[in-house]
Amino acid sequence: MEKSKEILLKGLPIAPGLVIGKALVWKHKRIKPSRKVLPEKERPIELENFRKTRDIMLQDLEKLKKNLPPRITRFVDFQIAVLKDGEFLKDVEYLIKEKGRTAEYAVYEAIEDRMNELLKSGIEYYRDRAKELETLYFDFVSYLRNEEKREVIGSDVVIFADDITIEESIRIVNSDVKAVVLQEGGKTSHAAIILRDYRIPAVFGVGDFSDKVDDGNEVIINGWKGEVIINPSEPTLERFRELVEKYKEEAKGLIEIKDLPTITTDGRGITLMANIDLPEEISLVLEEGAHGIGLFRTELLFYEYGDDEKEQEGIYRDICEQIYPFSCIIRAFDLGGDKVIKGYREKNPFLGLRGIRLLLEEEERFRKQIRAVLRANVKGNVKFMIPMVTTLWEVKRSRAIFLEEARKLSEKEEIKLPDFGIMVEVPSAALTINSMADYIDFVSIGTNDLTQYTLAVDRRNTRVSYLFHHTHPAVLRLIKMVVDAGREHSFRVGVCGEISSDPVGIILLLGLGITELSLTPSLVLQTKKLIRRISIEEVEKLAEGALSLADGDEVTRVVLDYIKDRAPDIVEKYGHF
Ligand code: PEP
Ligand code: MG
Repeated sequence: MEKSKEILLKGLPIAPGLVIGKALVWKHKRIKPSRKVLPEKERPIELENFRKTRDIMLQDLEKLKKNLPPRITRFVDFQIAVLKDGEFLKDVEYLIKEKGRTAEYAVYEAIEDRMNELLKSGIEYYRDRAKELETLYFDFVSYLRNEEKREVIGSDVVIFADDITIEESIRIVNSDVKAVVLQEGGKTSHAAIILRDYRIPAVFGVGDFSDKVDDGNEVIINGWKGEVIINPSEPTLERFRELVEKYKEEAKGLIEIKDLPTITTDGRGITLMANIDLPEEISLVLEEGAHGIGLFRTELLFYEYGDDEKEQEGIYRDICEQIYPFSCIIRAFDLGGDKVIKGYREKNPFLGLRGIRLLLEEEERFRKQIRAVLRANVKGNVKFMIPMVTTLWEVKRSRAIFLEEARKLSEKEEIKLPDFGIMVEVPSAALTINSMADYIDFVSIGTNDLTQYTLAVDRRNTRVSYLFHHTHPAVLRLIKMVVDAGREHSFRVGVCGEISSDPVGIILLLGLGITELSLTPSLVLQTKKLIRRISIEEVEKLAEGALSLADGDEVTRVVLDYIKDRAPDIVEKYGHF
């Protein structure tokens, strides 16, 4: 095994941060269940084995829950719910009693059925849940076989593992592990959420590393970029040591600017809000000092709770109260497209029944969500927004339903009417925005989709990702049209696509006249720092010039030169974004 060569692994940036540490490789847990068939007389003993193991696991999970903040306990509850699920128990007991399966094989089969059901959906969120079921199975076998837990040994270690269970994630954040690198794992996995919540830098999905890293190897983890360097050479190490020190200083500096206004050098005030997908992310939003939630995506809640009205109301209300006095823009379910829902398989889903199209077809689901949003607006800081608008008719129809539900509710209880807004993510909406002005209070530009639909480039397809430029002049021109319409008709215009998390994009948006940005929570302070160093006069010129450039690459080059001059440290951290 070649261990001295510097190796670079690329994966998903799960939790930001830059650390240098020593690898601790956790042996993988992929245990094949014993498939032997038990004779009749051994089956009652095996059943007893299963029940005892399950009870011990449940006791341990209950103990684990005790010292956790409420936002994390629900992940443990997920596992408890599986172990207590009547159907699951029935299946396992049947397999042991009637088919003579070993307990581990029976649990494996029962879980595999549920995993396959989730995997069939093709939805990333369900795929992550399926993986969690798998880790629950591995845990179960470890308990059955009385295996030792994978422990954190030593300090300042970076864990390398195939995957980690929820229980292991919780032990990791309660130890002094410096970072986590996983062979697998998705962005919405509970491990990812827990590590992000506790600010443990993490990179997932780096692929098989078994012949690349050993216990004690020096490693560098860049959670900003999703990169892992194993056995760095002396010059690499030196460069990163300096960067780590620099970032420490910078982090202190960022905390110092938390209470300062987000204002350009020539006095333009900018509102920085945050995007969230899950309620747990609110803690980071508050820590970073964001002035509101500019996009609360509700699809993951839908996957977890369905469209239950009460459940939605409770979650929305809680988030909106926490962010008060700032506002929270709740976006109606943007299902369809890449966020497929069961039963809707289409040949070309991004051009199919997605977002508001689906909501208007399944009106009762839309109405339930509207009622939940209306009731959640206790403090008057809630705004409601519809996704994927293409035509004026969709805006009029959605608004009519929104107002009708508000009227019906106000006959029974006191409500405050939230502002009603639309997302501009389809070129036709930007091009006809003037016609929609009378029906909306605000617009939020979703550049992820606007770029996809303007440049005809699938946002998830890595083979054409070289074409995906949210700062392409064609996209910038559409943004400008919306900003101009907002000025003319007095509706607010914000931007919530990934462009707001990209320094090049931020410069251009400010230059085009945008004053409200909603971005990744962990980048709020960083963005404030950038904005406090630039002048509107300068960025207006840059944006104007960018509108007549040929393509996104050219735009990026020009703006990067400006940032290098004003904030070289920011360019360094993200590389070329
Ligand atoms: C967008 O399209 O830019 C957006 C913010 O929405 P989503 O990424 O959820 O499609
Ligand atoms: Mg979108």
